[in-house]
Amino acid sequence: MSAAVGDGESALGPVARAGGRETRRLKVSFEFAPPKTPEAEEELWRAIRRLEPLAPDFVSVTYGAGGSTRERTHRTVIRMLNETTLRPAAHLTCVEASRADVDEVIDDYWRSGVRHIVALRGDPPGQIGGVYRPRPDGYANATELTAGIRARAPFEISVGVYPQTHPESPSPAHDIEVLKAKVGAGASRAITQFFFDIDGFLRFADQIRKAGIEIPISVGVMPVTNVKGLGRMAGQCGIALPAWLTSLFEGLDKDPETRRLIAGSVAAEMCARLEEEGFSDFHFYTLNRADLVYAICRVLGVRETQPAKEALQ
Ligand SMILES: Cc1cc2nc3c(=O)[nH]c(=O)nc-3n(C[C@H](O)[C@H](O)[C@H](O)COP(=O)(O)OP(=O)(O)OC[C@H]3O[C@@H](n4cnc5c(N)ncnc54)[C@H](O)[C@@H]3O)c2cc1C
Repeated sequence: MSAAVGDGESALGPVARAGGRETRRLKVSFEFAPPKTPEAEEELWRAIRRLEPLAPDFVSVTYGAGGSTRERTHRTVIRMLNETTLRPAAHLTCVEASRADVDEVIDDYWRSGVRHIVALRGDPPGQIGGVYRPRPDGYANATELTAGIRARAPFEISVGVYPQTHPESPSPAHDIEVLKAKVGAGASRAITQFFFDIDGFLRFADQIRKAGIEIPISVGVMPVTNVKGLGRMAGQCGIALPAWLTSLFEGLDKDPETRRLIAGSVAAEMCARLEEEGFSDFHFYTLNRADLVYAICRVLGVRETQPAKEALQ
């Protein structure tokens, strides 16, 4: 039996409705971490090549704590620029760096042809949620960094936002004030920390719009395959893992295959639901693996639109 797209569509759930669409509605972006070893570099590049044909809006490369990956982040971003069809964004933080050091990195990116920076304060060295002490000669926070980048070159600037409230923040209202200041300083996109409380996110996004902030909000999506490992990190970031999520993984510690299937299904459902709520930009935390993110994008109706640059040569 076969059914044409659109047949009985109203009876389907949001995932099936997203998959059945003939035109692509979503913009996706993919976040990677700079690799530490030659083996990790190979794995990263396999992931990049697999995801490249999905024509993401942009890809981004994280910046390690305290600038520890400065060279590796730079190298990865420049290789993406030179060897792929992708538009890379470089993450940059203020941690333990003088303004002069950070400005040098910014200028270097501009000279190399990079046009997008994800501007972040960074976490206090040693522990997320500890007390952050800016260097007296450094940028104190992402607002100052955004203004600093804007003053040097017309980069596109993305900044972070926290639907479940930043661990150092006294309130969601404070987070919205900070976002407003970052937009005032020149940010043109907000990327959310990952979250699982969809209704809480919708209320938060509503408050952002009510505060007069109109820049696009990219929904940060973390496909969860290891709920125990993620739980520790999420706790430090002030992100609650809901009971429905942990219970889906109960008893599956030794069954990675089933955990991956569940991870794909949860993330796809979350994105499809948010798409129906009017969100169209999704930023995937890939953890340098392509297969799950690729499958989720396919489920959401994001298909290949171009061959990888490598295949063209
Ligand atoms: C999408 C995304 C990507 C990330 N990538 C990285 C990465 O690559 N490397 C990394 O180390 N970390 C990364 N992080 C984590 C981030 O560095 C931490 O969450 C950090 O603790 C806060 O960074 P921020 O840029 O949001 O801080 P900010 O926006 O600077 O906010 C931090 C604090 O500074 C204060 N503040 C900021 N602006 C103002 C202002 N105008 N007036 C008064 N107070 C102000 C606020 O009290 C706020 O609580 C990422 C986070 C996200 C959401």
